[in-house]
Amino acid sequence: MKFATFDDDGREQVGWIEDDHTVHPIAAADMVDLITRYDELGPSLQARGVGVALDGVRLVAPIPRPRRNIFCVGKNYRDHAQEFSRSGYDGPAKDGDNNDYPAVFTKPASCVVGTGAAVQTHPSVTSEVDYEGELAVVIGRPGIDIARSDAMAHVWGYTIVNDVTARDRQKRHRQWFLGKALDTFCPMGPWITTADEVVAVDLLLQTWVNGELRQNANTRDLIFDIPSLIETLSAGMMLRPGDVIATGTPAGVGLGLDPPQFLRPGDEVVVTIAGLGTLRNTFV
Ligand code: MG
Repeated sequence: MKFATFDDDGREQVGWIEDDHTVHPIAAADMVDLITRYDELGPSLQARGVGVALDGVRLVAPIPRPRRNIFCVGKNYRDHAQEFSRSGYDGPAKDGDNNDYPAVFTKPASCVVGTGAAVQTHPSVTSEVDYEGELAVVIGRPGIDIARSDAMAHVWGYTIVNDVTARDRQKRHRQWFLGKALDTFCPMGPWITTADEVVAVDLLLQTWVNGELRQNANTRDLIFDIPSLIETLSAGMMLRPGDVIATGTPAGVGLGLDPPQFLRPGDEVVVTIAGLGTLRNTFV
């Protein structure tokens, strides 16, 4: 099933999406409440309410206010790791560093916006705004010290994240947080598709900038797969319902072009992942 959060005359509601064009409101306080009580709500989910046309409501991020930071993975596609190293923007981690473990950072929950929302370019702070289309995992069942072999049982669903990045901040400050944390820098959506509907290890991921195809990859090329990421993140830290893990971006970001091309006001970035929908944002 697909679940969205939408704005209905100023009131946020969670709904399930029928045939990609109708949304049916659900009696859940918000998406995290739905995820937490999903097994209990299950049988009643499809029975409720008259649907409204999806194009008559405004979607917001499926989890508009995550309970804590978005977990993110850096350099998780080989061809992107190479373009990033070549760019000279790679801070503390250089070629030859230990690549046996994934690079993990976070984006603050406050930078999440939905599909259709404007993304600010923050011209007083950065002149090098870049996009990163990514598959994101949404945790359902909580767990700590989760073994690889059990990891997929903790996945509730999947969505798309654009890990928007201010490259100059990322480079200057020798870490990734500041460049990734600016307000509106985490478009997420358009909805969450439950794990039973998706084979996450084989999904086409494409990103367009103003209609030009920039990223064209398959999630099978992740260096650290989803079970590895869950095992790593849950080691000593409880993963909770509604936690989001952005799995990393493939090659084709603006930084990797020769010369690099960063986003400008008016640019539109569209990220599509097969089966998960389309995340579309204009930069202002
Ligand atoms: Mg990223």
